[in-house]
Amino acid sequence: MNISTHCGGFCQTNGYLVETEEGAVAIDAPEGMFQFCKQKSVKPTGLLLTHQHFDHVEDAALFDHDDVPIYASEPCRPDLQLDDVLRAWGLAKQIEQFTVDHILTTTGSNLVLAGVEFELRAVPGHSPDSFVFHVALFQKLFGGDTLFADGGIGRTDFPHGDHDLLIHSIREQLLSLPDDTEVLPGHGPPTTIGQEIVKNPYLA
Ligand SMILES: [Zn+2]
Repeated sequence: MNISTHCGGFCQTNGYLVETEEGAVAIDAPEGMFQFCKQKSVKPTGLLLTHQHFDHVEDAALFDHDDVPIYASEPCRPDLQLDDVLRAWGLAKQIEQFTVDHILTTTGSNLVLAGVEFELRAVPGHSPDSFVFHVALFQKLFGGDTLFADGGIGRTDFPHGDHDLLIHSIREQLLSLPDDTEVLPGHGPPTTIGQEIVKNPYLA
């Protein structure tokens, strides 16, 4: 399994491309993610969204138009994309809407795409639709905007944000993973569960 990172857009958001001998999976769609895949001549078998905040879905419609199935925990919803916040910021940019082909749940079996088994965990708090994707075999966690390197956590001052719920989600769903699990977050460099247990002031 090879993972490459594309960081793009106004919020410097990470998208990850997971490649195996059986295919590829894109995780989140910041601005430029579609072109990043194109440049590698890779068409993912699926696009997984950790959540629908605008900076994680800017390129989602491009994948949709290219018939890449989209996986998310909710149907496409402008309120989850923070359309009010974008308007308040005076950002003319509109997020092009897309179709969520598969709704993620925690009650079904693990999701297997391109030969990679993703365990799905719901982690509401930063946003109500936040999920993380755990690849146990490779000890990787695609963490979205939950836990960041060097003591950060997802912000909760946006609409639908809930700080206490986020802390609860991190404790239950992330800190229960093995210490050497590498967290690949939605912003900034990777970290590990073990490092954040020691360093993260929010989890003290
Ligand atoms: Zn977010």
